[in-house]
Amino acid sequence: MATTTVERKLLLINNEWRPASTGKTMEVVNPATEETIAAVASADSADVDAAVKAARAALDGAWGRMSARERGRLVSRMADRLMEKADAVARLETQHNGKPINESRHIEIPAAAECLEYYAGWADKVMGETIPVKGNHLTYTLREPIGVVAAIVPWNFPLLLAAWKVAPALACGNTVILKPASQTPLTAIALGEIAVEVGLPPGVLNVITGPGSSVGQALVEHPGIDKIAFTGDTSTGKAIMRSAADTLKRITLELGGKSPNIVLADADIDAAIRGATVGIFYGKGEVCAAGSRLLVDKSIKDEFIDKLAARTKKMAPGDPMDPKTRFGAIASKKQLETVLKYIEAGKREGASLVAGGERADIGTGKGYFVQPTVFADVKPEMTISREEIFGPVLAAIEFADIDEAIARANDTQYGLAAGIWTRDIKKAHYVARRLQAGTVWVNTYNVYDTAAPFGGYKQSGFGREMSAHALEHYTQVKSVWIDLNM
Ligand code: NAD
Repeated sequence: MATTTVERKLLLINNEWRPASTGKTMEVVNPATEETIAAVASADSADVDAAVKAARAALDGAWGRMSARERGRLVSRMADRLMEKADAVARLETQHNGKPINESRHIEIPAAAECLEYYAGWADKVMGETIPVKGNHLTYTLREPIGVVAAIVPWNFPLLLAAWKVAPALACGNTVILKPASQTPLTAIALGEIAVEVGLPPGVLNVITGPGSSVGQALVEHPGIDKIAFTGDTSTGKAIMRSAADTLKRITLELGGKSPNIVLADADIDAAIRGATVGIFYGKGEVCAAGSRLLVDKSIKDEFIDKLAARTKKMAPGDPMDPKTRFGAIASKKQLETVLKYIEAGKREGASLVAGGERADIGTGKGYFVQPTVFADVKPEMTISREEIFGPVLAAIEFADIDEAIARANDTQYGLAAGIWTRDIKKAHYVARRLQAGTVWVNTYNVYDTAAPFGGYKQSGFGREMSAHALEHYTQVKSVWIDLNM
């Protein structure tokens, strides 16, 4: 498709839509068709400066003076407006990410709206305390916003992961500069449109598009930004942590994972097979918490793998815009190449390929599709067992007893999530307590709720998103002392 026919999208700074100061743009590609679907502004440090100026001014302006309840009402209106536009926003999410429209429309967009609604409710419930100190003083605390938050998000759940940051940040009275991934900027821009439509004051939510290595880096280094809320790759998180040290920014990091999904011998086998497939194939495996390491008791392994392979072979990628499709396109050409490289490593290192293993074609000869893939007989030292693939590739590993399962599960630098399948309640608790992971699912997988915290142990990051815990990361505490001596 010629770029002249594609829609041009601008930066949102101070409630004004403007091109990048350099005039540069970046193309957005639909991974299911390989067509260019939009050209977005490619910002640089001058645009970051302008956004920071607007965001700082908003803190001192109407937004800073607004009552918490009124702030909450505006965030709630964003949730309502998002649901009014859910069909259109879901189409954008599917077009730039390749996920099935069913997921965008019925899971991701409603979850993003729910997150906005949840934190809207918190806005006037974030409060301080009165403290019984020594002497004749009234001493109380104020929970104040941190200031300007840069929210930097990846391409796998572009709108939802933006909402996880924007909603608590705004509810707590901060201002935000949202930077979506280069591959998937369209729904962040839609969220910016919604902010303007519902009447968020200028500068409260700014949306800056551009490459992470330049614009993302400029945000991390900018002295006018107080906090970085980041979701993305562990190596990027480490680089951000180093750069943020110079200005001592607050940071929260939601990073990668290599999550174990453990099937004990007494599990409901059919439920565990469903759970194993949901765990790895939901979202094409481009899910930070994907259950990418399946640990199966060796006494049930053969039956389990046979049934799992049969079920996987029935799953085929399809046109993401078809409401019946449950498995879409890999989000980018680069990610497709990464996934295929890992599949080759699995074959080369001697794992048994029992399902998938090839690039797929949905009949158009276009698009970045790959077959859902399962490897059995994976050894813990193999590449596909150790590295995050971030794609629909499952590595099945056997274990001899429950303690070996726990040891293998924890034998990773990551600690984002884990699953356990068992009918024995004592074993469920025993394993849940020993797993080094921020979320443990028992007899289920990949379930989330805005009211429940989510985040990593170990190198999967720190800080919690969603729930009341996230409020800690968007407020700071001030102690006020008043001398009451007459
Ligand atoms: P990425 O780290 O390459 O990019 C994430 C974001 O950071 C993008 O907006 C990118 O432009 C920006 N960025 C890149 N370099 C930067 C820099 N030097 N400074 C500032 N910003 C920079 O990650 P990705 O490939 O987009 O996303 C995939 C990764 O995200 C996977 O590792 C996945 O596990 C992780 N992830 C984690 C969670 C979680 O909650 N823990 C959720 C989703 C994805």
